[in-house]
Amino acid sequence: MTAMNLLDGRIASAKILDNIAANSVLVTKQKGRAPHLSIILVGNDGASETYVGSKIKTCERVGFSSTLIRFDNTVSEKELIDKIREINSDSEIDGLIVQSPLPAHISFTNITNAIEPSKDVDGFNPINTGRMVQNIPSFIPATPKGILLLLEYYKITTTGKKCVVIGRSNIVGMPVSILLARNSDPGNCTVTICHSKSIDIPAQTKDADIIITALGKPGFLTSEMVKEGAVVIDVGISRVADASKKSGFRLSGDVDFQEVAPKCSYITPVPGGVGPMTIAGLLSNTLSAALGEFYSR
Ligand code: NAP
Repeated sequence: MTAMNLLDGRIASAKILDNIAANSVLVTKQKGRAPHLSIILVGNDGASETYVGSKIKTCERVGFSSTLIRFDNTVSEKELIDKIREINSDSEIDGLIVQSPLPAHISFTNITNAIEPSKDVDGFNPINTGRMVQNIPSFIPATPKGILLLLEYYKITTTGKKCVVIGRSNIVGMPVSILLARNSDPGNCTVTICHSKSIDIPAQTKDADIIITALGKPGFLTSEMVKEGAVVIDVGISRVADASKKSGFRLSGDVDFQEVAPKCSYITPVPGGVGPMTIAGLLSNTLSAALGEFYSR
């Protein structure tokens, strides 16, 4: 049986955040102000409040300043874009994110298009996506960036490996597939992307050295779908009813952890795997924005 190792996102992200904090001190000295992240939050969705709260707390931890701009669910797309344009031209703000989901009457595409690429620390603006595809340094969406940082931290070899990604969303599945196929390290994988129209996903995963699940279906990946020694990265976070919890639910990944873990060489837990790495990815992007790394201003 394979010796299983945990890809612990709490440990890896703590180290990365310490490094960001050290760099934050230097940037603050250099610029006369701390790196600054602005967050726009529309409405009061519970999960979004939690994510935004932990982004703000983590900014404090690394010595960044942050601003939270709240809008009502009834805000118009124009009002939101006007605010984005104001932030785009504010030289005191380095990075801007708009927390998703947005209300149905607002186009996520129009919003991400409005964010100045040099401040687009979520990496959703098509300019950053295009640069990512062409392997030009740019902001990479926070979760895929966090996954790359985790692979690097645990020194997982990706070159030449067969990688199966389940899920093709613009925020996780598609970018992580592109990144792992790029001519870079981490990267250089032979990547297969699966989605809801794929036929016989187990036939793909059984052969994979690295499996990334990003579909949001609790316990989807079972042990018969995984080969001995595989690296499994579980991005999924779903709330599953659990009467034994005070909240009435527990968080579940896309992987049947109990069954799958004994077969893996490395596996991420949920929670405590990709989640903390996502925030590390976002703040690493914000530091890059403050340093003007990818775009000259
Ligand atoms: P999404 O936009 O809903 O995309 C889900 C993807 O999974 C789609 O491409 C869909 O295929 C595919 N899919 C759905 N059911 C499937 C099935 N039965 N078999 C194969 N593919 C299937 O979700 P997302 O935003 O990428 O998020 C995915 C999960 O990751 C969610 O649980 C989310 O909460 C979690 N997440 C976690 C973090 C983190 O920091 N840890 C960050 C972001 C997201 P189609 O394209 O064909 O519809």
